[in-house]
Amino acid sequence: MATERSALTDADFYLLERRLPDDSRELLHRVREYMEKTVQPVINHYWTREEFPHDLVKGMSELGIAGLGYEGYGCPGRDCLLDGMISMELARVDSSIATFFGVHSGLAMGSIYLCGSDEQRERWLPAMARMEKIGAFGLTEPDVGSGAAGGLTTTARQEPGGDWILDGQKKWIGNATFADYVVIWAKSLDDNQVKGFIVERGTPGFEPVKQKDKIALRVVQNAHITLDGVRVPEENRLQNANSFRDTAAVLRLTRAGVAWMATGCARGAYEHALAYARQRQQFGRPIAGFQLVQDLLVRMLANVTSSACLCSRLAELQQDGLAEDHHSALAKAFCTVRMREAVGWARELLGGNGILLENHVGRFVADAEAIYSYEGTREINTLIVGRAITGTGAFV
Ligand SMILES: Cc1cc2nc3c(=O)[nH]c(=O)nc-3n(C[C@H](O)[C@H](O)[C@H](O)COP(=O)(O)OP(=O)(O)OC[C@H]3O[C@@H](n4cnc5c(N)ncnc54)[C@H](O)[C@@H]3O)c2cc1C
Repeated sequence: MATERSALTDADFYLLERRLPDDSRELLHRVREYMEKTVQPVINHYWTREEFPHDLVKGMSELGIAGLGYEGYGCPGRDCLLDGMISMELARVDSSIATFFGVHSGLAMGSIYLCGSDEQRERWLPAMARMEKIGAFGLTEPDVGSGAAGGLTTTARQEPGGDWILDGQKKWIGNATFADYVVIWAKSLDDNQVKGFIVERGTPGFEPVKQKDKIALRVVQNAHITLDGVRVPEENRLQNANSFRDTAAVLRLTRAGVAWMATGCARGAYEHALAYARQRQQFGRPIAGFQLVQDLLVRMLANVTSSACLCSRLAELQQDGLAEDHHSALAKAFCTVRMREAVGWARELLGGNGILLENHVGRFVADAEAIYSYEGTREINTLIVGRAITGTGAFV
């Protein structure tokens, strides 16, 4: 990471941080310090071993950032811009930690916040905000990814006593190997609508198995889950999740967060590349002095800056209650494409050293591949925007 801290070396080129009030900026910088001093020195170790650093959760909880944007229920109730910038800050150092946090604070807590009753929010959110309990979000299935809106095959059957029985499989579910609460989205056999259920760890018939040998986000523990006659009480059915439209409301929120994360991933790679270019010498001078190297750096910076500005405006739309599915979808698609370009250029700038984990950029390149595809691929987010601007859905 760049040692001198200025807008020029840490890539806040258009001074977006100045949009934050002092107390928010102070929190953002505490997150930065935690990530740079505590996470960065150890993260490659966990990445190599495909392990999750459980010891780091306490430090993250002390930052008080889980459920940042939610009002009440033990959550901080801060604004969307700060929430987004914190996602960027996490990913700027490590995309796996940012993803772990996004699944917990965004997807899982967001499902409860947006789709739970008051009583359910009171029951689950305070401990999740303190990160004493960790959440996961189970939508994708082995045979159903992009087509989840209409195609879920996991079923929920209500028994006469009121309990629900869940059967099916889920794939790619982040945090699910150790999460206390996993939100499972399933199709009700009664009305054929998608409903959300909180499955608590250890519930009989619920079997999460860690997915191994990933080439991206190796620190994130993704699980293939089998649900075999899992009994869930009616009190654990999210009371305001009545169809996939409600699931989509959660994704609208979290896709904005992923756009910020993609920006952070690109930004981290850029900052590593800039620092490297200034100290690496070839032909008797720092490579930063070569025109073609500067071209790479400026392209990266343009990607980071345009993405951050877009996300920043999206945060204002969210804050004003004006953000719709297509706004988040455009940001997710655009920022992930820009990220994928930028991390590739950063790798190129480091030459051979770019593929060594110790220089971090290689990890960013690998992790970017997962961010590019999860929470809706580029194609699916493009189709969401395409439908909005033409009035014609082109999904099938
Ligand atoms: C690391 C990681 C973490 C994840 N974490 C979670 C999680 O915590 N919870 C969860 O529920 N899910 C999670 N996912 C799943 C993720 O959301 C899906 O991978 C994603 O939605 C894409 O689905 P798929 O992989 O099944 O690809 P598919 O849907 O099979 O798509 C394959 C290709 O076909 C394209 N395609 C599909 N349909 C169309 C179409 N109509 N028009 C044009 N192109 C199309 C896609 O864009 C893609 O390029 C995670 C995935 C990864 C990789």
